[in-house]
Formats: sequence, structure tokens, C-alpha cells
Amino acid sequence: MKSSLNEVEIDKITIRLIDPFSWDIIKTPVRGDKCTHAQCFDLKTFISLMSSAKNRTWKCPLCSKDSRKFMLDYEQQDLIKKAL
Ligand SMILES: [Zn+2]
Repeated sequence: MKSSLNEVEIDKITIRLIDPFSWDIIKTPVRGDKCTHAQCFDLKTFISLMSSAKNRTWKCPLCSKDSRKFMLDYEQQDLIKKAL
């Protein structure tokens, strides 16, 4: 079943500014360059988690796509700066 893709409403997107790993506020919002979701994760947390992991997969924590390349989300970074 592929249901989650249909739930995205572009104008009403809600983005969590909380990192899915650390449950801390995201400081550097990134997502993999293959990701299609708006939700980001924190770059530093992701790197430190991956560098301590036994099996380094470099997969997006949200959609499991290859995330060796990152894209910084400037819009979300702006939002985070305003929110803090
Ligand atoms: Zn992803």
C-alpha cells in the first residue's frame, strides 16, 4: 500500500523542526538529494549518528533513500532561526 504520498498538501505542509533522531531542535536542516519529502533532519546529528553506527548506511531516516548527498533547506533554516 502506498498511502503516505497522497497525504501531502503542498500549501498546508506541516514541518516538524524537531530532529527525528535526537528529538532536539534542528539546527542545520538537510535532506538527501533523492528525498521527495519536505521534512528535514539535523545534519550534525545525522553525521554523528552515522559515524558511530556499526553499519553505516547513509540512508535518510525518514524515507530510507540514499542520503550520501545532502541538500540544505534554506527556507527551513530561516524558519528555525525565526522560531528560536
Ligand atoms: Zn528522505
